[in-house]
Amino acid sequence: MPTGKLIVLTGPSGVGKGTLLRSLLQRHRDLRVSTSVTTRSPRPGEVDGRDYYFADRQQFTRMVAENQFLEWAEFAGNCYGTPRQPVEEMLQSGNSVILEIELEGARQIQQNFPDAVRIFILPPSWEALEQRLRGRGQDDDRAISQRLARAKEEIAAAQEFSYQVTNDNLERAVAEIESILTMANSNTARS
Ligand code: ADP
Ligand code: 5GP
Repeated sequence: MPTGKLIVLTGPSGVGKGTLLRSLLQRHRDLRVSTSVTTRSPRPGEVDGRDYYFADRQQFTRMVAENQFLEWAEFAGNCYGTPRQPVEEMLQSGNSVILEIELEGARQIQQNFPDAVRIFILPPSWEALEQRLRGRGQDDDRAISQRLARAKEEIAAAQEFSYQVTNDNLERAVAEIESILTMANSNTARS
């Protein structure tokens, strides 16, 4: 059985990565998503094991020391990492796996998995990004400022990615990602 593709979705916080991902997963039942480990506190409504595995710093540090992460990074004062084993198992069973991760982690994936399909999600404008971050209503002012500061650095790196998709209209952006994934699959089939 051919192994699945590793797909990386990156972009500034609030750009709509999670929303795009949910839509993709609903439409493509064969796609799998990796559940990350984070030291961030759960937001209202977030469920351990579904949205994230919530861990303390000590647990996270131990997992890093034991090489349990495919990649990991610090973002806005918290650590985030992709558990290695479940992703490797899903790929080996022939499923494509999406990682929704920030820039530093995406760079690590590029180093270690050069065949990964790496997509950067851009906002239609800076104002729209700020509105989405605030409109989500889940981060306090300090967290929003940290995320906006980091967003500038992330957007400056968009050209490092093989594909850039602007999340203006959700349906249009999902369709563009779908066509990228179809193209990536047909390239694999030919090689
Ligand atoms: P991220 O996962 O990148 O941090 P989210 O998926 O949580 O972002 O989206 C942030 C906010 O933006 C949410 O309130 C979401 O409903 C909204 N949003 C996402 N995509 C769009 C879009 N295309 N147009 C308008 N609002 C959007
Ligand atoms: P949030 O706190 O908004 O859920 O996530 C903050 C940022 O961390 C987002 O850009 C998200 O994509 C990223 N992130 C989530 N999980 C991981 C992970 O496992 N690794 C890395 N490097 N970033 C992650």
